[in-house]
Amino acid sequence: MKAFEKNIRKVEPYVPGEQPQEQVVKLNTNENPYPPAPGVAKALEEMDLGRLRLYPDPTAEVLVDALAEFYGVSPEQVFVGVGSDDVLSMCFLTFFNSGKPIFFPDVTYSFYKVWADLYRIPYECKALDEDFRIRKEDYYPENGGVIFPNPNAPTGIYLELDQVEDIIAHNQDVVVIVDEAYVDFAGRSAMELIDRYDNLIVVQTFSKARSMAGMRVGYAISNPELIRYLNDAKYSFNSYTMNQTALICGAEAVKDRAYFEENLQKIIQTREWAKKELAGMGFELTDSRANFLFVRHPKYSGKDLFEFLKKQKIYVRFWGSKRIEDYLRITVGTREEMETLFTALKKYM
Ligand code: PMP
Repeated sequence: MKAFEKNIRKVEPYVPGEQPQEQVVKLNTNENPYPPAPGVAKALEEMDLGRLRLYPDPTAEVLVDALAEFYGVSPEQVFVGVGSDDVLSMCFLTFFNSGKPIFFPDVTYSFYKVWADLYRIPYECKALDEDFRIRKEDYYPENGGVIFPNPNAPTGIYLELDQVEDIIAHNQDVVVIVDEAYVDFAGRSAMELIDRYDNLIVVQTFSKARSMAGMRVGYAISNPELIRYLNDAKYSFNSYTMNQTALICGAEAVKDRAYFEENLQKIIQTREWAKKELAGMGFELTDSRANFLFVRHPKYSGKDLFEFLKKQKIYVRFWGSKRIEDYLRITVGTREEMETLFTALKKYM
């Protein structure tokens, strides 16, 4: 071993879903099958390319203001970043420094562990119960901070707001981050609690409900004090600044509430219909409230199904962790995409 190797921060790398460049039925990374709001295309067409010579506005005012208006909060309560991954990473760096272990569920979004390892933040993973639910009592003991997604990934299970509040209320000495990447498909957001709890940060993304994963836009809503800490840290890292195109397109997307809601309804309807179809084929499903389904079949190996579907150019995600074995996570696509999937599954069976 070379002398410097002991000083290298080693992490178990996060394995991202495949992004095939050929035409496939892509149900593996929870993207939205519908295009962004029409205003986004218009903004791109009309964009002043001369503006690209200049650095983007570091305060991201146009996007911050649009989000503040959408949620009825003040601009001082909004922090934006390059996808919610960027926002979450900045939150880990800024708020999880007590030296005490932070708590998050096992199983959950795999990036939490990567950031904790990379930033040398101790952590404890709290096992889900036998129905894959987060047990709120596990988050009561003293800790250095709490983070969980709601709905959780990859189970899609939504924790009712009173239980989310219970976790926040039991942890008022530390920061609690509720990662709401999928909440628009699910139910009430913890944003309702922002004024009541000083320790709460809600993080959301444009990658799912707003069909803009490729643009990389995410945000946090909290009280002005916590948002100020995030901004102070961000301004010291120019690489965290959002690009001008994403700022303008993001702001356009937020303005179109009707399109957003229509898009959500289509996905929710397809999800509920797809649940019934899959159950009819003998799959066991969690009650996912996200834009993906989490399924296993008692008769067929998930790994084999995954490989078979891939050969048919249908990409889903295989989930084979120690705690949750042999599951498939299937993004809710268009009705036609789901029909293609079901036809292939029937062929296999
Ligand atoms: N949180 C959760 C729970 C996720 O599943 C994802 C994306 N897969 C993210 C955050 C990050 O999304 P993005 O960086 O695209 O906003």
